[in-house]
Amino acid sequence: MDNQNNQKKGGISVDTEHIFPIIKKWLYSEKDIFLREIVSNATDAITKLRRLESLGVREATDEQYRITVTVDEAAKTLTVEDNGIGMTEEELTKYICSIALSGAVEFIQKYENESDGKNGIIGHFGLGFYSSFMVSDSVEVITKSYTDAPAVHWNCLENGEYEIEACDKAEHGTAVIMHISEEEKEYLSVSKIRAMLEKYCAFMPEEIYLVDASAEETEAKEGEEKKQPEPINDKSPLWQKQPSECSDEDYKEFYRKVFNDYREPLFHIHINADYPLNFNGILYFPKLANEYETIEGQVKLFYNQVYVADNIKEVIPEYLLMLKGVLDCPELPLNVSRSYLQTNTYVSKVSAHIVKKVADKLCSMCNNEREEYAKIWGDISPFIKYACMRDKKFYDRVKNALLIKLTGGETKTFSEYLDTAKEKHENTVYYATDKALQAQYISMFAAEGIEVALFEHPIDTQFASLLEQYMEGVKFLRVDADVADMLKSEGEVSESEELKGIFAEVTGDKVSLKFDALKDESIPAILNVSEQSRRFDEMMKMYNMGEGGMPVESTLVLNTSSPLVRKLSDAAANDPDKARKIASYLYKLSLLSQKKFSADEMQSFMKDSFDILMEL
Ligand code: ADP
Repeated sequence: MDNQNNQKKGGISVDTEHIFPIIKKWLYSEKDIFLREIVSNATDAITKLRRLESLGVREATDEQYRITVTVDEAAKTLTVEDNGIGMTEEELTKYICSIALSGAVEFIQKYENESDGKNGIIGHFGLGFYSSFMVSDSVEVITKSYTDAPAVHWNCLENGEYEIEACDKAEHGTAVIMHISEEEKEYLSVSKIRAMLEKYCAFMPEEIYLVDASAEETEAKEGEEKKQPEPINDKSPLWQKQPSECSDEDYKEFYRKVFNDYREPLFHIHINADYPLNFNGILYFPKLANEYETIEGQVKLFYNQVYVADNIKEVIPEYLLMLKGVLDCPELPLNVSRSYLQTNTYVSKVSAHIVKKVADKLCSMCNNEREEYAKIWGDISPFIKYACMRDKKFYDRVKNALLIKLTGGETKTFSEYLDTAKEKHENTVYYATDKALQAQYISMFAAEGIEVALFEHPIDTQFASLLEQYMEGVKFLRVDADVADMLKSEGEVSESEELKGIFAEVTGDKVSLKFDALKDESIPAILNVSEQSRRFDEMMKMYNMGEGGMPVESTLVLNTSSPLVRKLSDAAANDPDKARKIASYLYKLSLLSQKKFSADEMQSFMKDSFDILMEL
């Protein structure tokens, strides 16, 4: 620092004098962003120099452009240095002391008055250079313009006073030296800085190196050969490429690296939206291990390769938030509050485009990669169904890509299912919710060649109700809802009045009784539960509004083709006590397929069973 006489002193103007304490306190929760702001200024400085080269204003060189972030624990400094465009003294005064400062003041004033406060700002984007004061007692800038202008040294204290003087610096570019304050000394930890760079700067467009000043010294002492340093970032992330340039493995590797998730994602979507939306991104449908794992995904939002924030609900609709991925939206107005974003038409267009792309991908997989698609259907279907329930437009887009899993294991689309159904059960989808419990019903349908859908997930029945609204004329019936006509035989139905009386007694009139001749003679009795009342009961339980228990509107169907029922009719006439015992037992057996027995019920069932065995 020659030229002491040329030293100038200055101060931040009156209305901005409070900015430093405000900066320090105000962004307490998101302090880390200062590094992103300073490093992205450094990448901008290099980009500007590259532009001058490409415009021919500056002669092209083979210089290696780079940004170095140096942690010096001993000196208590964190330095970000670039070899970009640099600043002349005049530029420094104008850009840093005037424009940047008033920018920061404006930023803070704007958001200080936001009713939604600090959370209203996405990623605190755009606070700029002065965010460095969140962690520093003083900040120095040493810069040399790419022109012949001499280098300058600027030193600014926390109270807004600064000194500016000429200095020696050979290479063009800028070093920002942050003197980390005592209470923020965590920012002198190399691992902390590395983690911050990995979060905020992982995809910035210029090479960024992290240097640990203390390690440098030891290495020099030991005289070891220096390892070739590796940049901390990936300058050209996958999302900036054309899908045709990327292999499946590229997508998987990118996913592993970005999300540290070693399970393969189920599928990915690479979005390259041109004018007027202008955004890129890759979205993955993750494989979720089990129900207990959080289903919230992670969509990282970038602004020209600069990380802004995660899971911006304004951009990704809530029902797609289980996705993982990256979105780079350089047109997104990030210098605005969240409430503004919610009503911004650009944002809603981006969001709609994402929804469309997800739907298109599902349809194309269903049409072109059916086997693969069927394999992942079990994993994705609850989410797709939920999305359909939340957004009719999404449903309309994916309706032809909705699959039905059959009890036999294979899958069909709804239209394929309904096509097959035309002859025997036009417009009716039969489904089972529990393969084991409802095995007897399923086998009756299977014997008639009727396909039964497997609706095992709690969302399925709700989804069925929705489809009944959307697919005109189509109805969904659980296999135990009714005895379908094709399960009945032509045979005569002979009703026994005595038996009716006995069953009324043993069921305590909880169910109605019906005689039917079924094709399957091996089944003496089945219990039918009305579809409507069962769904209502399920809904009440789901909202904790009802007791649950025995579903209303049940019918016990006695199969008059069954030899057992015939014998029972005879017994009802000749030996009512025995008939009562058997009838009661038969009723309990039919209940078995409907519900879990309570302890009392189970005990009484066991007792009845032993009694019957005593007939030996
Ligand atoms: P912004 O980057 O949004 O313009 P900042 O407050 O971060 O706002 O920076 C203000 C200005 O200071 C920049 O526009 C740039 O002109 C100048 N500047 C900051 N950092 C550097 C740097 N490393 N090299 C050159 N100029 C810089």
